[in-house]
Amino acid sequence: MVEKVYVTYNQIHKLCQDAAPKILGDFKPNLMIAIGGGGYVPARILRSFLKQPGAPNIPIQAIGLSLYEQLSDSDVVEEPGTKVTRTQWLDFSSLEMKNLIGKNILIVDEVDDTRTTLEYAVKELQKDVEKARLHEGRSEPTRFSIFVLHNKDKEKKGHLPDDLINDNRYLAAVTVPDCWICYPWEATDIDEHDQLAAEHGVK
Ligand code: 5GP
Repeated sequence: MVEKVYVTYNQIHKLCQDAAPKILGDFKPNLMIAIGGGGYVPARILRSFLKQPGAPNIPIQAIGLSLYEQLSDSDVVEEPGTKVTRTQWLDFSSLEMKNLIGKNILIVDEVDDTRTTLEYAVKELQKDVEKARLHEGRSEPTRFSIFVLHNKDKEKKGHLPDDLINDNRYLAAVTVPDCWICYPWEATDIDEHDQLAAEHGVK
């Protein structure tokens, strides 16, 4: 059985705080896209640490993705693919997509497991922003970077663009062995969760 480890709100707050100087210095985001639901709380915490005196808060846009195993036609799972579906996306016809053109965009999620979700998010956002850029006749490049709280040290199914990796625009606050991470926002009893975190926290 996969080991379960527990993280507290306090630990997550501090992971965001510790990551903020690098994000500010290297990524210089002027917009965040939080992948729901796990990316929402880290993005909101980060926003406080990314706030610069005299500058407005960095806006947060939300997208929702869900991931499920896709069975083969005959329902025999020889080599099932993993399919990502959009449960919430940015609206192309309104200002939302146009608003991304030329920005430094920080994609935020809680965990990079198989990387399928992050691959999908980056690929699809890049595609849609490029479409919007052409539509608007604009020339500014848009730059994506990624922040996750936890990266699992395992073979990844998904791939991120070479330039994003080579320019060090991927940051995981902590890299953990392959395990199941229990986040506080999933807890129905937060006191018990904190107790379990004290006993079985991320090492
Ligand atoms: P992916 O495999 O695409 O990297 O991750 C897909 C999604 O599965 C994540 O966004 C997250 O919602 C969920 N997930 C993967 N590993 C964990 C984990 O250890 N704990 C929790 N709570 N969710 C996870």
